[in-house]
Amino acid sequence: MKVLVINAGSSSLKYQLIETDTEEVLAKGLCERIGIDGSKLTHTPEGKDKYVEEKPMPTHKTAVQMVLDALIDRDHGVISDINDIAAVGHRVLHAGQYYSDSVIVTDDVKKVVKDCFPLGPLHNPANLIGIEACEDAMPGTPQVAVFDTAFGQSMTSKAYMYAIPYEYYEKYSIRKYGFHGTSHKFVSGRTIQFADLDKDNCKVIVCHLGNGASVSASIGGKCVDTSMGLTPLEGLIMGTRSGDLDPAVVQFIANNENMTVDEVLDVLNKKSGVLGISGVSSDFRDLSAAASDGNERAKIALDAFIYRVAKYIGSYTAAMNGVDAISFTGGIGENDCDTRKKICEYLGFLGITIDDEKNGVRGTETYISTSDSKVKVMVIPTNEELAIARETLALVK
Ligand code: AMP
Repeated sequence: MKVLVINAGSSSLKYQLIETDTEEVLAKGLCERIGIDGSKLTHTPEGKDKYVEEKPMPTHKTAVQMVLDALIDRDHGVISDINDIAAVGHRVLHAGQYYSDSVIVTDDVKKVVKDCFPLGPLHNPANLIGIEACEDAMPGTPQVAVFDTAFGQSMTSKAYMYAIPYEYYEKYSIRKYGFHGTSHKFVSGRTIQFADLDKDNCKVIVCHLGNGASVSASIGGKCVDTSMGLTPLEGLIMGTRSGDLDPAVVQFIANNENMTVDEVLDVLNKKSGVLGISGVSSDFRDLSAAASDGNERAKIALDAFIYRVAKYIGSYTAAMNGVDAISFTGGIGENDCDTRKKICEYLGFLGITIDDEKNGVRGTETYISTSDSKVKVMVIPTNEELAIARETLALVK
């Protein structure tokens, strides 16, 4: 069965066409600058040359039509008929407290996506536009919504409640939701299989370390805590996001820099994190190079990032009263051996020992802990598109 996976952003649309029988990616691509001058489709079919088309894309509907045309094109297409696409899986950011699993899109589901616009103001409107554009272009083809917040819905109130007046939770649903849920679910599930853990009771920590970064704790594959919050700003230090800080910092910067709260939040989202501390880059490869050249601020940024990840692992171990396995994923988690090693150096108190040779791997599923380590530590590459295709298949089969 062929499933089209769509990740619609405000001015972009990423896609993959996946053959679910073999889990092979038949084609993938990106529409950029939708609704802006200079729109471009980059389409990469498996086994054929990359195809780039620069043509105005005033709306997401035009973008979806261009994607479908590229998929069935005689030269760079990979299928002969649009009806070969059995279903479409959409990455959707926020489902508030409404859904703890993926769902087939109905009018009620679209209303929930819309009702959650205030919780995901940048992503949810684009996600809904993406769904509606596909519905128009492929009437009758089932659409599935896979929510980034779904995995976090198994958290109990002690983990998700913010200590602010309860009326704000009641009125506005302000609480911790967590994000990267599709990745955390995929990687924790794969960790359980890979390490042959007790699937009902195992305690797993997943560190998704990329430009956006988060940690989750799960017992028996169910999330009990996760580091991102009402928005993806909470938790770890990230590429450009601050992660946890004293909320009074917002007022302090606003007053002293004569900025609005929105402007300060923009700084915390886009100009902070390792970029903010280092002034060098949000990219770990640049930071490592700068630190090796003696750049002090790049060193502080890397040390602070590593320290924060280690602290979260420690606190989640306490939250679960133990941990059986820790997995690293995301661009940094999968590839940055040095950062992984330095995080694990904080975890000797858990009886964790890392095998330097095994830890030399990049992007491959493997143990990095020694065979006598008390906790199994692994690299498990994430694959959010495949996870979305699997969730879609499970609902429409
Ligand atoms: P992601 O957002 O998951 O794509 O991850 C992006 C981050 O992964 C960036 O900070 C990259 O520098 C980092 N990254 C990717 N490949 C490597 C690598 N080989 N070594 C170190 N960091 C890497």
